[in-house]
Amino acid sequence: MINGIDHIGIAVRSLSAAIPRYERVLGRPCERIETVTHQDVRVAFFEVEGSRIELLEPITEQSPIARFIAKRGEGLHHIALRSSALAVDLARAVEGGCEQLSGVPSGGAHGAQIAFLHPRGMSGVLVELCAPAALAEPGRATDNRSLSIQPTTKNFHE
Ligand code: ZN
Repeated sequence: MINGIDHIGIAVRSLSAAIPRYERVLGRPCERIETVTHQDVRVAFFEVEGSRIELLEPITEQSPIARFIAKRGEGLHHIALRSSALAVDLARAVEGGCEQLSGVPSGGAHGAQIAFLHPRGMSGVLVELCAPAALAEPGRATDNRSLSIQPTTKNFHE
């Protein structure tokens, strides 16, 4: 079941430039910064009333975020829907004609299980289905480093 907007991902060139602007507008400090190595990004988190804004800064040229910015500039990168049953929600989306961007759900920030749906089937928006670690299936590894990671957004901009 989809039960909320988990976060909104925004591609930025520089966290040090973007964080103060978002802190000013949101009226609160950046909660923390995390590196998601398999996506080659640094992520700055802002909690906003049960949801989050995530600023995504590429740390390599190969990062999907680097390619996104090269092509479109900074801006809205994806919307993440919170899922209480990732496999079920993903199956429903795929049966409905959406295209999943990687073979298996993989690890995201916060130890979440995530899967991406191609913008082609979602009116031009990259959609992430996200099962927060607390909601992930019991007995399943939720630590990024212990998962076999599939590239999830590698070909989406090409
Ligand atoms: Zn995300």
